[in-house]
Amino acid sequence: MVCFCFLVDQRWKLTGTKPVAGTCSRCGGGASVGDMKTTTRFCYVPFYWKSWKAIICTFCGAILKSYR
Ligand SMILES: [Zn+2]
Repeated sequence: MVCFCFLVDQRWKLTGTKPVAGTCSRCGGGASVGDMKTTTRFCYVPFYWKSWKAIICTFCGAILKSYR
């Protein structure tokens, strides 16, 4: 009997931020340009990485705009 594992998850990590003019539409906090890194994992083994930039809120962590 063959057992397949379909456990795929995706998580992103913030690797750096730079303050930028603007405020968060959710909480009114300060916005930053963040360097993001997305890792897609299959059965807990990372097999795909992607780096992207996004404008995020430093206060609540909301993604206000993304550049993919
Ligand atoms: Zn916010």
